[in-house]
Amino acid sequence: MKVFNTLSRRKEDFAPIGGDVRMYSCGPTVYSYAHIGNFRTYIFMDLLRRVLKYDGYKINGVMNITDVGHLLSDGDTGEDKMQKSAKEQNKSPYEIADFYSAAFFEDMKKLNIDLPERIVKATEHIQEMIDYVKTLQEKGYAYEISDGIYFDIEKFGGYGKLSGANLGEQIAGARVEVNDEKHNPADFALWKKAEKEHIMQWDSPWGSGYPGWHIECSAMSIKYLGRHFDIHTGGVDHIPIHHENEIAQNEALTGDKSVNYWIHSEFLLVDGGKMSKSLKNNYTVKQLEERGYTALEYRFFCLNAHYRKKLNFTFEGMDGAKTALIRLNNTLALHKASAVRTPLEITAAYKKEFDEAVNDDLNIPLALGVLFKMLKEKKSEDVYKAALDMDRILGLRLDASAATADKGEAAEAEDNIPDEIKLIAEKRKAAKADKNYALADTLRKEAEEKGYKIIDTKDGVEISILK
Ligand code: AMP
Ligand code: ZN
Repeated sequence: MKVFNTLSRRKEDFAPIGGDVRMYSCGPTVYSYAHIGNFRTYIFMDLLRRVLKYDGYKINGVMNITDVGHLLSDGDTGEDKMQKSAKEQNKSPYEIADFYSAAFFEDMKKLNIDLPERIVKATEHIQEMIDYVKTLQEKGYAYEISDGIYFDIEKFGGYGKLSGANLGEQIAGARVEVNDEKHNPADFALWKKAEKEHIMQWDSPWGSGYPGWHIECSAMSIKYLGRHFDIHTGGVDHIPIHHENEIAQNEALTGDKSVNYWIHSEFLLVDGGKMSKSLKNNYTVKQLEERGYTALEYRFFCLNAHYRKKLNFTFEGMDGAKTALIRLNNTLALHKASAVRTPLEITAAYKKEFDEAVNDDLNIPLALGVLFKMLKEKKSEDVYKAALDMDRILGLRLDASAATADKGEAAEAEDNIPDEIKLIAEKRKAAKADKNYALADTLRKEAEEKGYKIIDTKDGVEISILK
């Protein structure tokens, strides 16, 4: 499998360190509903995990839940997002975290995103974070000022290697400086000393406080995946600050490389701009449902764009995805119902093409094209089965949907038959049971004159509209 590594800025062959593939994915900050932009990133994570599994790897995956310490500004200022939301809703931050975590998992399920093997909460790993910061301080990478403990980026030689920014650019890019005690404007908080009104706070060697957002991911990834692991994922917005800071912390701690492959997914845009909670231009899965779209239709919408390309969200795009997915399921239902055999080499050739696409840096749009091409083959259950195999990666629940589409079509056909014709069919059935074949024939002709065809099948009769 080839993947694009943000660290090297090129596609590389994936080679695991050994044993299970160890993978960390930055999870949600649970102060509000996750929006469909966030879910684009988790759909990407899911696709990556599914391709790895498809290739036979076992995965040891970890995703965090940020339930403390993510401040409103990336410059370590502003209120804690959890605390702000708690105040607004007159609840405790823990209640807020529980509520929005549950909503997040419900949406993940609807989107058919398989959860990583381990989900970890920041508030349950405070001691690990304190120990981590203590070590960084002992090693000379951290210093204390009046509002917290900060990482000294100038002490760490490799700062900026992920985003390709040099220290000068990082400093110039740092937000308007409000804290002149910091050695360097781009130094970031490892631990913040809490003001009295900060609800979530813990004892530490530096007084009562709470962790910085970046140390959370470093502490939890190292705890569960070790000091050197295979893959780290997240959205592209995390490259210049959050992930740059994770690298600085980890490598300062261990003196060595910590993650082999950094893989990032591009943004979901709306009207050509960023979709984000702060801009209030975001939609949730529930809002899509209220407008008549299913979560799987949104998943399908995302699959049509490569994860490293920006994707513009529009309702026209969703309409297109909806129609295409319904058509896909209807076609699959027809394949499923056919007893015709397709030679193995034909389905195998499509599968090979599909495998190559997904293994080429997750080229899912190309892989979908292969599926659509295959569905144009003569209707055959073998094609249906090959499509289900591809769905192990696509995750569109094609088995369940094709079954519903199947039933749906039959039920729809049944509804279109007038009672008068159904009665004729019943009478004909009785005539046949009486061995009165002349009457049975007359009744069939009568139905045909009215535009309906009665066909005997092994399960009884089928009525269809004469074309
Ligand atoms: P947050 O809950 O804000 O920490 O974000 C959770 C994940 O969603 C992160 O990996 C972000 O990079 C990602 N993300 C945020 N906004 C978008 C967007 N508009 N499109 C895609 N991913 C996003
Ligand atoms: Zn993170």
